Amino acid sequence: MRSFKNQIPFMSNIIQLLPDHVANQIAAGEVVQRPASVVKELLENSVDAKATDIKLIVKDGGKSLIQVIDNGAGMSVTDARLCFERHATSKIRIAEDLFALHTKGFRGEALASIAAVAHVELKTRQEQDELGTHIVIEGSKFVSQDVAVLPKGTSFLVKNLFFNIPARRNFLKSDTVEMRHIIDEFQRVALAHPKISFSLFSNGNELFNLPASNLRQRIVNIFGGKTNEKLVPINEQTEIVTLEGFIGKPEFAKKNRGEQFFFVNDRFIKNSYLHHAVMSAYEGLLKEGVQPSYFIYLQVPPHTLDINIHPTKTEVKFEEEQALYAILRSSVKHSLGQFNVAPVLDFDKDATLDIPYHYKDKETEFPTIQVRADFNPFQQETKPKSSYTTSSNSSYKKSTASWEGLYTGLKEEKITHEPVYEPMIEPESEQILGSLFDEKEEENSVRTYQIHRKYIVSPIKSGIVIIDQQRAHERILYEEFLRNITLSKTLTQKLLFPITYYFSGYEIALLKELQPVLEQIGFEFESIEKDKTVLVGLPIDINEKQAQKVFEELIADLKEGVPESGFCQNDSIAKSLAKSLAVKKGTLLTEKEQTNIVDALFACKEPDYSPFGKTTFITMKLEELDKRF
Ligand code: ADP
Ligand code: MG
Repeated sequence: MRSFKNQIPFMSNIIQLLPDHVANQIAAGEVVQRPASVVKELLENSVDAKATDIKLIVKDGGKSLIQVIDNGAGMSVTDARLCFERHATSKIRIAEDLFALHTKGFRGEALASIAAVAHVELKTRQEQDELGTHIVIEGSKFVSQDVAVLPKGTSFLVKNLFFNIPARRNFLKSDTVEMRHIIDEFQRVALAHPKISFSLFSNGNELFNLPASNLRQRIVNIFGGKTNEKLVPINEQTEIVTLEGFIGKPEFAKKNRGEQFFFVNDRFIKNSYLHHAVMSAYEGLLKEGVQPSYFIYLQVPPHTLDINIHPTKTEVKFEEEQALYAILRSSVKHSLGQFNVAPVLDFDKDATLDIPYHYKDKETEFPTIQVRADFNPFQQETKPKSSYTTSSNSSYKKSTASWEGLYTGLKEEKITHEPVYEPMIEPESEQILGSLFDEKEEENSVRTYQIHRKYIVSPIKSGIVIIDQQRAHERILYEEFLRNITLSKTLTQKLLFPITYYFSGYEIALLKELQPVLEQIGFEFESIEKDKTVLVGLPIDINEKQAQKVFEELIADLKEGVPESGFCQNDSIAKSLAKSLAVKKGTLLTEKEQTNIVDALFACKEPDYSPFGKTTFITMKLEELDKRF
């Protein structure tokens, strides 16, 4: 073996210092993952510069343009030039400063990183200076520097993100998805600083306009007028932490985990341990699978907090984590308790924010059986007797899938097997079951039994079928809505009283984008304005009492991510409507409703699975049953 001694003299030196622009590009990978990261860094810089008004303008999900304009401290000529250098920061000087942070930034990396991967234009002026500085920099290269007449404050314009890293650019998601991330970052910063006014424009539309306000008003301005009535305040002051903010009333808890925010020393953080503390306080108050909203602000002494453990700084480490857990849990419990005993007084409730519609207090009901408006008794019926299809021209062809065999021959064999398996289902209620069945029932009808208000059991040729009522109904409705969307003309029922919904700017923008598809399915809008929409017509499958809930759930679902293509949009809408309208577990079904579900399910194209991929029914062979005896 050759020794190193021999090797070294023959080798030339190979280590080099990377040129700055390459080093910056590599560093940028950590700081700038997507347009939303740029938004976060620029907004935080503006907050650190003590701005009282911050504007964010984006185009194409931030891919072509991101601009942040503030009225903060601005920069001197020298600083304007220096701020793009790596590790150039005005926020810390010595290592100890790291443990007494009062600013968002401190690494001095953001601007250098952004400038390495985009075209950047900086305009800035300090109050005391007469003229400002205008700098253009592209992929770390200075292009120009001028003196200019400018308002006080700073404007950063970031164009063509990742222009010099095609792989990264291609890796970006659709504009809608990137925009969703931008809105998340924007909301986090805006929620952390209610005293600063913020606005957000996307492709020329104003999505948010948030005046300086108190915390409650800020939450309401972001999440829409209806949020106000859902909030319960939380307050606690101890030696190690000051807690304030709002938690959502349990009955407004949602399926998706959208509106959950922790802020520590005015910085948005994620912390699963603290999340657990909140969730445990809600124990026993929430229905299965739903998540409460919360907006919780913690102030802790800076030296007890380490925000340095994650490069993008949403994760932090607390010195007294266990104590925090206990304090948080008990104060959330306390607020919930107060709220449960007596409604909390709403001091700053703004009457104009309420929904002026009486349906909001009404309970949702089981979808009633609809009458087909176009029913013609002289026309040959083409579909099985399903009351769930109400649209005019749906050609409802029975699929030829393998399940069809389930029922064939049932009538003949029924007589033979009935005494064997029927009593097994619910032996005690044999007599009652017997009397439930009308002997004069239609010849071809299938007998069904509802078990635990959850499953429908029915005899089939080879044994029994057990159907999950909720999943089955989801499948039925889903296929029906999809059919309606693709039909050229669906039916709309006019509402007796138009319904007004209050939505946030982003939700309204979403609504506008989806208006054509929603109209295609049967919704009709009188107007879509800045913060509200007036609905005047509904798809005929949705009754007026369900409208409020169904529509709000639809917007909430779509907010989670709207697919780009028309087909996928239709699919998301059909899924959401099916989910909201489907009969839930725990609902007692009449015999007629049970058979309707059975019939309609097996007339579906894909009866085996719910639209969310869950099994809708299982079968059990007679032999299997026999074996168990
Ligand atoms: P950091 O925020 O970690 O200090 P950045 O790269 O984000 O690093 O910014 C570098 C420096 O540029 C900041 O420390 C600050 O002095 C200055 N700066 C950045 N944005 C602004 C702004 N909007 N207004 C005034 N100064 C700014
Ligand atoms: Mg910064």
